[in-house]
Amino acid sequence: MLASRLPGILPPLSDDEALEVAAMRSVCGLTLDQHWGRRPFRQPHHSASAAALVGGGSKPKPGEISLAHLELFLDELPEFSRHVLEVLRQTLESGTIHLARASHERRYPAQFQLVAAMNPCPCGHLGDPRQRCQCSNAQIQRYQARVSGPLLDRIDLQVEVPALPAQQLTAQTQGESFAAVRERVIAARERQLARGALNSHLGGRELEAACALQADERAWLAEVLEKLRLSARAYHRILRVALTLADLQGEPRPAQPHLMEAIGYRQLDRLLKCG
Ligand SMILES: [Zn+2]
Repeated sequence: MLASRLPGILPPLSDDEALEVAAMRSVCGLTLDQHWGRRPFRQPHHSASAAALVGGGSKPKPGEISLAHLELFLDELPEFSRHVLEVLRQTLESGTIHLARASHERRYPAQFQLVAAMNPCPCGHLGDPRQRCQCSNAQIQRYQARVSGPLLDRIDLQVEVPALPAQQLTAQTQGESFAAVRERVIAARERQLARGALNSHLGGRELEAACALQADERAWLAEVLEKLRLSARAYHRILRVALTLADLQGEPRPAQPHLMEAIGYRQLDRLLKCG
C-alpha cells in the first residue's frame, strides 16, 4: 500500500519522460490515453520470468522494467527467482536493456526507481512481538541470502516497517499531506537540476564536490563505514542520500545529521552482513 502511494509524492513526468513512457506502452500494444503524463506504477508478480521483466521474444518487446520507467514495485523480493534478481541487479547497474536476436536488436530504457518489499523470514513474524516466528535459523538465513549483497548495495533506502495493530492502521492521523510532501520533493529536484544534474546522475567526483565534506566529517564517516563493515560502494550511496536529505530541507550541503540519517537507511546491509 505504501509503495503504491509513491507516485503521488513525485513530480509530474516531464514531456520527454511522458513521451518515452508512451513509446514503451505503444510498442507493447497497450492503450495510451488515460496514462499520458502519469507516472507508471508496475507491480509484476514474483513468478515473473526474466523475460517478463527485461523484455524478450523473437521480435523483442520491452518488459516490466521499461514499462515501469519510472516506478517498479517488487513485492516479496526473495520469492523472485535467483536469475530474475541477477538480471535486475545487472539492469540497475547498466541503466539500459539490450536485447539481441538473430534478426533484431533492441535497446530499451531502464531508468527506473525500484521499490521492493520483503518479510524478515519465510513466515513473516521474525521480530513481531505479537506472534512467534516459526522458522529455523537455517530457514531465515537461506531466505535472507536470496537477496544478494550486490543487489542490496544498490538499494539506497532500507527501512523496517513494523506490523501495526489494526486500530492504529485505521486511526486518523495528522501527518503531512501528500501535496506538502510533493512540493518539497519538487523543490529538492529543482535545487538538484540547478546544480547541474539529479543526485542519482552525479558521478563520484561531482557528488563529493556537491557534498563538500570537511576533513573531520570525512574521517568520521570513514570510521563509521569501517565499524559497520559497509562496502566502498555504500560510501557514495550514503553521500547521495545525505545530499538529497539536505536538498529536501533546503540546506546547501549535507551536515552530520544528514549523514547519520543516510547511514540509518542501510539497515539490511548491516543486518545481513553482521547477523
Ligand atoms: Zn519466521
